Amino acid sequence: MYKIKGFPVSTGIAIGDAKIIKEKALVIEDFNINESQIDDELDKFHKSINAVIAEIEEFITNFNITNEDESIIETHKMILQDPDFHDTIKNLIIKERKNLEQAIYLHFTRTIEYFKNLDNELYAERAIDYEDVYRRLIMHLKKIDNSILDNLSENDILIMNDIPPSLVSLVYQRKIQGLVLFKGTKTSHSVIIARALGLPLITGVKYPHKIHHLDKIIIDAQQGFIIGNPTQEVIKAYTKLKTDIIKENSELNTIKDLQTKTSNASSIKLLSNIELPIEIEHVLDLNSDGIGLFRTEFFYLNKQHLPTEEEQFNEYKNIALKLKNKIFVIRTIDIGGDKVAGWYSPDRETNPYLGCRGIRFSLRYTGIFKTQLRAILRASIFGNIQIMFPMISSIEEFLKAKEILDECCEELKNENKDFNQNIPIGTMIEIPSAAICSDALAKYCDFFSIGSNDLLQYTVAVDRNNESVSKYYTNYNPAFLQLITTTVKNAIKNNIPVAVCGEIASDKNFTAFLLNSGIKELSVGAEHSLSLKKYIRSIDSKKANLFIDEIYNCYTIEDSKNLINKINNISLFNEGGLNEFNA
Ligand code: PEP
Ligand code: MG
Repeated sequence: MYKIKGFPVSTGIAIGDAKIIKEKALVIEDFNINESQIDDELDKFHKSINAVIAEIEEFITNFNITNEDESIIETHKMILQDPDFHDTIKNLIIKERKNLEQAIYLHFTRTIEYFKNLDNELYAERAIDYEDVYRRLIMHLKKIDNSILDNLSENDILIMNDIPPSLVSLVYQRKIQGLVLFKGTKTSHSVIIARALGLPLITGVKYPHKIHHLDKIIIDAQQGFIIGNPTQEVIKAYTKLKTDIIKENSELNTIKDLQTKTSNASSIKLLSNIELPIEIEHVLDLNSDGIGLFRTEFFYLNKQHLPTEEEQFNEYKNIALKLKNKIFVIRTIDIGGDKVAGWYSPDRETNPYLGCRGIRFSLRYTGIFKTQLRAILRASIFGNIQIMFPMISSIEEFLKAKEILDECCEELKNENKDFNQNIPIGTMIEIPSAAICSDALAKYCDFFSIGSNDLLQYTVAVDRNNESVSKYYTNYNPAFLQLITTTVKNAIKNNIPVAVCGEIASDKNFTAFLLNSGIKELSVGAEHSLSLKKYIRSIDSKKANLFIDEIYNCYTIEDSKNLINKINNISLFNEGGLNEFNA
């Protein structure tokens, strides 16, 4: 038996046989053509592009894939249709007399290298799309069938270096148990698809050579490790755990339509965080109270061009209509830091997290900002839309952003375009200076939403994505919890709503603390929604509020752990059970 660590990027347990797939090397012919062959090569190029696009379209129609999958596959189509790509290939064939395969090879290797050398996780993911398109095209030209799917059966766990996004749905349809990728990150396209399909998946596996073809393995995607050649006892324990998880999920489904109330009958708004428009279907299915955070970077990160006002307007309007009148908080572009768009090449910043990100980006590139604001404003008549600015660090920044919003309102008025003139405008509290100044800030804005992920990162000066210092990135840091409490107090004092939309909102260890401090809105990823609802229904949100101020007397992590435990013990009314009080 062996155990190896990886990153859990989806949930669940998988038990099966390891099928290690090594991708075949594609041998590219390297020879020059003569003038008389140019037309043939160009013709072959156009035919192969058309054929691969047709293949993609057929795949979309025949395989009943989700819209999310579809949008990713559409990115591949865009790569194939990109006029710059066509020009480069033509040049390589006509001027440099390269044969078609060589021309394609040169173009894609240069592009992929370029993305990889940018040394940025998101660019590296775009490189995966280019690799995928490249392989597809070459496989088409060489008439190579995709052999990855051969011999895959229901009991298998697929082990690969990385998987192209277009293959994830196909392997899923083979009903495989799970996936292990040596590469791949939380936000890569393939991972997003696998997560949406509910495939247990682990990436970034350390010591992959320990896994042998056909080993019996268990993926524990809850905790992030793989167990190889497990004993019968371990298999038995994990089989039970897997059954329990499936049972728990189906039980949770039965509370979808119950209200989110604490055991002392205090109503809590349980909102959802989304990153892609398609997630709205899941949010509606969960009967969530609305969307507390729409991370709009999707528009910018998955495209090679800037989104137009019309494109954004249509997406916002569609979601607003689907939500009927439920809250729909749209966060304006939060680009920069780890979120970098394909079309944007900022001056190299030594420390991008402290550089031009969030609202600073919008205040620098006001044209991009205004396009988004106009789209949001125009959509605001179709639902309960609210605007939220990310990464606000001072009142001046908030006022500057508001001034630009006012300009957009003026423009729309002059163009006789309708919008909600009283649209609520909020700010994320995710920088310590904003939390400290929250009393003053609350006088200018309509609501707060605490972005605990960044608030913690900036309070303790720990890069939230850097595993090597992750032990310092703890929600139990008393300074961080004090900033949350201060923000909540100031919001209540100034009579504005305050939500929490960072990861702490779904961490049940902190639910009683947050609710006792006065929080009435939590916005979480859809996967946490129902179990959090169940938990909220089992706690009393008032019993421990006398102890909340003790957080200001906590000096160490140990102190705040003790306090949080005390609050949890006092608040827990009826653990695990739905009491009749609330039904
Ligand atoms: C946060 O910082 O807590 C947050 C919700 O924003 P993001 O995770 O998108 O930075
Ligand atoms: Mg943030």
